[in-house]
Amino acid sequence: MLHNKTRWLPRDYYGFGAILLLLVAVALSSWFISRHWIGLRILAQQEELRQQGSLAAATAIQDLQRGSQQIKDIAHTLASLSSLRAFLNSPRQAAPLQADLDRFRENFGLGGIWLVDARGRLLAQGADSPSPPELNRFLGNRQPVSRFILEPEQQQATLYYAAPVPGAGNATLLVKAAVNGIGRRAYRIELLVTDPDGIISLADNPDWLLHSLGSGQAPAPDSTAQPAPLPIVMSPLLPEIQLLGPQQSPVLLTSRTTDNGDYRVYALADAAAIYHLARERDNLALIITLAATGSLWGGLLTILTLKRNRRHRLAIGRANTELVRLNQQLKQLATTDALTQCPNRRAAEARLQYELAKLQRYGHPFCIVMVDIDHFKQINDQHGHDIGDKVLRHFAKVGRQAIRDTDVLARIGGEEFLLILPDTDHQQGLHLARRLLDTVSATPLYLADRTISFSFSGGLTEAHNHDGTNDLLVRADRALYRAKEKGRCRICSEHLLVDQSVATG
Ligand code: GH3
Ligand code: MG
Ligand code: MG
Repeated sequence: MLHNKTRWLPRDYYGFGAILLLLVAVALSSWFISRHWIGLRILAQQEELRQQGSLAAATAIQDLQRGSQQIKDIAHTLASLSSLRAFLNSPRQAAPLQADLDRFRENFGLGGIWLVDARGRLLAQGADSPSPPELNRFLGNRQPVSRFILEPEQQQATLYYAAPVPGAGNATLLVKAAVNGIGRRAYRIELLVTDPDGIISLADNPDWLLHSLGSGQAPAPDSTAQPAPLPIVMSPLLPEIQLLGPQQSPVLLTSRTTDNGDYRVYALADAAAIYHLARERDNLALIITLAATGSLWGGLLTILTLKRNRRHRLAIGRANTELVRLNQQLKQLATTDALTQCPNRRAAEARLQYELAKLQRYGHPFCIVMVDIDHFKQINDQHGHDIGDKVLRHFAKVGRQAIRDTDVLARIGGEEFLLILPDTDHQQGLHLARRLLDTVSATPLYLADRTISFSFSGGLTEAHNHDGTNDLLVRADRALYRAKEKGRCRICSEHLLVDQSVATG
């Protein structure tokens, strides 16, 4: 036991240390690997957004340049119309100008045409053009002006362009037309256009219109009434992501400028998902680490438990076998005489009860013979107690060899034995007892320096149906007493005196 303990204890410590090391290694590597992996995901998504934004911005710039040039051309063509000059010279000649304005409006699909004087008063307009006050909101006092307005219902950018009328004082011709394509909002990309003053001229969110982008551009000195800039700041988590507006929405910003530098298109790609991923990066890595380490720990625990259970089962099995062996030994000790290895008195009585039960139930007859070695005290006195023991062992050995396997020779006292003969009637029992007496008398104990002959006396009785153990033993004892009385070395039975003496020596 001690040997086992000293061998197993250090082994368990090594195992524990190894498991701890493994868990720490797995935890650290899953932490770093998962953080790295999340970082790669963020970079990949950022790159994807940047490409989408840059494409959207490039397309928008093209649409814008093409559209604005077209509208500019239309405005200048209109401004140089002869009917316009005629009208300015003589306002009564309004009809030809009106016809020209209507024709242009219809042919080019314009949103409106207005002719205004230096003070902004309306002189003429194309059919169905909206009223000038609406324009003033966007045009202010900038002359000439190109400004975009996003028409929310159509999601279309509309360009207002003002062309001065050559040689007509400060009269100005205003044209409104849609810029195709630019107002369409791409997936996850929002477009924002600023004019040469950095003012937002086009935006999906109408609240942003006319604000400047809060990139540090100083407002013009005369425009103190200008709305506050729309804040846009670099995010502390990811340098490439900006936080836009009061809500601080994460966006990835890509911008392009028109060839003449007038307008700047900003593509705002929605980066909320990336930003969220970056913000939760450590938490995610922690969850992955815990999951990996936890699963490993669970697995190891299962294996260890199974192994330990197996060890316990084996130990219990061994202990059980040992217990069974010890029990058998105990039973043997409790029922066997140590000197002669014959069944002892207790075992003999148990066997008697069993045979009595068999007799009562099945009618199987049986006999017993009470055996007592003759003059044993003399043997002890003459040869010593040790030799006496040898005689007892010798008698037991010879006796066992002489009887059947099913018969029992038990030692029930010092030099007293009991012979139990199952399935044997009185006559057969007598026959067997005599044969045993003959054998024992004819088989002395040979020692190196002497030979010891001895005999025994026997009292036989056959069991009756209503006998108890004690009845039987008393009857056999009585018969034995008679055998001793008659001169020993003989078998007596309860009913019949058998004077079967055998010459000893
Ligand atoms: P009898 O013929 O009348 O039976 O005479 P006996 O001498 O055999 O009978 P007794 O009862 O006078 O003596 C039995 C002796 O057996 C006495 C005792 O010391 C001896 N004895 C009992 N048990 C043992 C034993 O285990 N070993 C030895 N060596 N002697 C024993
Ligand atoms: Mg005796
Ligand atoms: Mg005796």
